[in-house]
Amino acid sequence: MNKPIRICIDCAKDQYLKRFIERNGSEGSECSICGRNGRKNSVPIDDRSKIKDLLKALIRYYYSEWNYNSHFGGDSIESLLLNKNPIIFKIRVRKPKKNEDSIIYDFVDSFSWPPYADDPHKEVSLYYGFDESGRGLWMYPIPDRKSHYLEALSENLKKRNYFKYEKRALKLFRPFKKLFTAKIPKSSVFYRARIGIKQQKWKFMDDFDESEPIVFPYIKDSIGAPPPYLANEGRLNRKGISYLYLSNNIDTSICEIRPHPSHLVSCGSFQTKSDLIVADLHELDFYDYFGSDNLISIFVILNNLNVFFSMPIIPEEGEKYIITQFFTEVFRKLGFNGISYKSSITDGINYCFFDEQKLKYVENSGKVKRVTLVNYKIVDERYEIEEEIKDNVHYYP
Ligand SMILES: [Zn+2]
Repeated sequence: MNKPIRICIDCAKDQYLKRFIERNGSEGSECSICGRNGRKNSVPIDDRSKIKDLLKALIRYYYSEWNYNSHFGGDSIESLLLNKNPIIFKIRVRKPKKNEDSIIYDFVDSFSWPPYADDPHKEVSLYYGFDESGRGLWMYPIPDRKSHYLEALSENLKKRNYFKYEKRALKLFRPFKKLFTAKIPKSSVFYRARIGIKQQKWKFMDDFDESEPIVFPYIKDSIGAPPPYLANEGRLNRKGISYLYLSNNIDTSICEIRPHPSHLVSCGSFQTKSDLIVADLHELDFYDYFGSDNLISIFVILNNLNVFFSMPIIPEEGEKYIITQFFTEVFRKLGFNGISYKSSITDGINYCFFDEQKLKYVENSGKVKRVTLVNYKIVDERYEIEEEIKDNVHYYP
């Protein structure tokens, strides 16, 4: 029997492949890719290890099936890997008997069979294969893929009540909860802002000679979450539900409430009373998801959800909140204390906590800030003044 193909850490370019070899590799063998002996760290590509699934997943992560499935006119995986690619470094041929082509053919052979997973819960397919409508393909690399489940759900939620779909979502996410759980240690501090101040007064010294205007921020309850009956709909909360929205820095908390130039803004801090867990969508690690077709589908859903949570939404498009509000309730029912997501305005991170009581106001943390300038970035949009009237030009709504 032939010795299995091996790949060493120096031949791995992709971060996940590197990490796999780092964690699973052993010392001393020859690398089949670079042909060097006694490599510090290398792994065999055989059925006993998950590296075959990882390599298949990486092809799908970086390429559309158009590009790598020659059935659809794409290149072969071999030719993609022979050229500059994100997965492995260029082959350095060291053995006169071997050439680049045969090395890469052996390498691709070593992981690409079987091309379809027998059990989608345990293995990764390299190709989409067939469904009811015939032969299909993965049109986009994994990070760009749209989740059909989310697209259908968004449409359904516009027509029907959310509770029709909640059970299925809970069932779908429950087994994977750990993968997107982030722990917030006790005593972590977050920031909150509210437009306006409690009051302004003139401050006099004893002799009334000097006076100065002074402002007082909203503090404690008056900068906390509103009582439920006053809670308007927000990105994560339905009307009448009060959640505590915070950020990991003051500037983000101010930008998130969209003040106008010259607005005075009250700021304050809140501290967690105990360890809490939040659903964390902005730091998904593909390494946790490469193990099976099923996990990859979950990654696609969570990755799409992350976009929903962090994309800017203008007030006129409030209906776009329906999907984030839906998943906020799903995550709350899964036992999370809150959700963290990237700010759509700054580099900061936002936190939404479901139970205000799990945090306390930090005494003397009140501040007043004035917004002096709001920065807009303006770009050109494709537009026409009027529709063209021509035989070969058509418009669809
Ligand atoms: Zn090597």
